Amino acid sequence: MKAFIESLARNRLAAFGAIVLLLLVLLALITPWLPLADPDITFPANRLHPPLSEGNLLGTDALGRDILSRLLWGLRVSLAVGIAASLVAALIGSLIGIVSGYFGGRTDNILMRGIDMLMAFPYILLALAIVAVLGPGLMNALYAIAIVNIPFFARNIRGVTVGIAHREFIDAARLSGKGDLRILASEILPNVLPVIVITLSTTVGWMILETAGLSFLGLGAQPPQADLGSMLGEGRRMMINAPHVAMLPGLVIFILVMSINLLGDGVRDALDPRLKSGALSRPAPMTRIRRRLTGKHQDDAGTSPASALLTVDDLHTDFEMGRDIYRAVNGVSFTIHSNECLGLVGESGSGKSVTALSLLGLVASPPGVITGGRIEMDGRDLLGLSAREMRRIRGKDVAYVFQDPLSTLHPLIRVGDQLVEAIRLHQPLSRGAARELAVTLLGQVRIPNPQRRAEQYPHQLSGGMRQRVGIAMALANDPRLIVADEPTTALDVTVQAQALALIQRLREDKGTAVLFITHDFGVVSQVCDRVAVMYAGRIVEVGYTADILDAPRHPYTRRLIDCVPRLGEPDNEPTAIPGLPPAANALPEGCAFADRCDLAEAACRHGEIELIATDAGRQVRCIKPLGLPVHARAGVAP
Ligand code: ADP
Ligand code: MG
Repeated sequence: MKAFIESLARNRLAAFGAIVLLLLVLLALITPWLPLADPDITFPANRLHPPLSEGNLLGTDALGRDILSRLLWGLRVSLAVGIAASLVAALIGSLIGIVSGYFGGRTDNILMRGIDMLMAFPYILLALAIVAVLGPGLMNALYAIAIVNIPFFARNIRGVTVGIAHREFIDAARLSGKGDLRILASEILPNVLPVIVITLSTTVGWMILETAGLSFLGLGAQPPQADLGSMLGEGRRMMINAPHVAMLPGLVIFILVMSINLLGDGVRDALDPRLKSGALSRPAPMTRIRRRLTGKHQDDAGTSPASALLTVDDLHTDFEMGRDIYRAVNGVSFTIHSNECLGLVGESGSGKSVTALSLLGLVASPPGVITGGRIEMDGRDLLGLSAREMRRIRGKDVAYVFQDPLSTLHPLIRVGDQLVEAIRLHQPLSRGAARELAVTLLGQVRIPNPQRRAEQYPHQLSGGMRQRVGIAMALANDPRLIVADEPTTALDVTVQAQALALIQRLREDKGTAVLFITHDFGVVSQVCDRVAVMYAGRIVEVGYTADILDAPRHPYTRRLIDCVPRLGEPDNEPTAIPGLPPAANALPEGCAFADRCDLAEAACRHGEIELIATDAGRQVRCIKPLGLPVHARAGVAP
């Protein structure tokens, strides 16, 4: 709610509309207490006084009635009728929409055909017909306007409801034993409410206009009662000799409807989740980069060791949401050599995926921003590349295997064609040649009968096969580095073992380097040469896999290793790590793990804790590394 009001206030036009509308509503509310002449008392001697005349600020109409007073009372009536009609239409229309969208089938058919019948008539004509049947009068005009607007709500809301009604969380609610009514109220309604509010806010102005229209034609407010439309209608006859009589109500209608529509558009922009972060902007094809160049990164000269394939130096990636800044990656450095597999391990939310996505500028912006660091490959800083140059690297030099292959494969394109597309993006091959290569790749990742599988759609493959298609796609252009983001988490153990074996074989055959992201030390021990352990956006320990598994130096690493159950050792119960990682927008001072660490002491909670070298090739971000004699703690690498 707070975010909604803030984003509304940021939109200047909407804020202006809101203020004008608020003033008008306030005026309408206090009208009975204002020192105004009676709006209905006629005084023929005073007829058609111009504005600013004595005793009548805005002049008088043909019957000598005070226009200011009639305007304010009329505004009251128009607002009340317009808003009441909108609420009635929204209530009935949304109800019809939700019910027919949720239940579907015959209910849907009957309700929607009824709505179609209403929509078959031009709606002003329909409103006129309804008033003609009911008889002229303000209430009848209200009914007419409400009825002709029901279809807008019903159709809109039905569409949204149909989209939601078959989603997994509805199934889950049903399986938990909730009845239809409970589901409608607690699962569907909260999801369609924004759409109802948006539809409402963008139609209120319209309905006020329609009510005024009916009154203008003499079918709404009956004399002597004033509403804006009937005042306009009365003034029309003396447009030439007393234009103010018609112009003033016209002006008020204009201001009223304009302010409502400006506000309505603002409400829509603020509520629409697609527009929420960064008004009207879609995520850019590349993560925004806003580096404060420090002396360290200023010179373009590479700092990476010659044997390194990719060097990441002090990478910072933030998510900026309003005033909150989430430091998802907070100074990460690592190196990957050719033919090496580096594991990136850590609990969910520790920043592994964001680190990996940052390498190729794939973090969504907004809200993501890379605020510092260098990512170097072949002596080039990847963060300095244009979107075009980056596209040439993505999928070619550096390929990506995503965690969930079902959501990253296009559901409507055959897997073979998707592979062909990936191949032809980077290689000048004919369709036929690319096709052959695609089938070969599918064979390489051990998909049985690749020729036939290439003709199938993703949903026809099993989860393991889809994951292998994802791996095949990553291999398509002989990348030098594969970033695999939890590629085996969604797989059962046998398929997982196959996928790991596959990645191993590729490294042996092609010398591909792998950045392997996982939260599972069991998997790490099978495939990774070295491991970097991440916690709260930072690397807390890095070293050779065997060394780290043997003797973890950081308490967090030890706890992570203890979480892995060991087969055949029933006494070795896995132990969970108590507590939760800190929120990325409120990282504590000192060691982020201190609150969950049973060895923490006062010194752990302040100052900057640096990565220190302990053993060969090993670094630990801890002031009391495990298993080291006290004098070695100052930590200088041997
Ligand atoms: P994991 O280590 O499980 O891969 P992530 O790298 O996905 O963790 O997430 C790291 C942090 O960044 C988390 O706190 C997460 O909430 C935050 N985060 C990730 N993606 C976004 C996003 N698009 N918008 C805002 N915050 C995000
Ligand atoms: Mg992740």
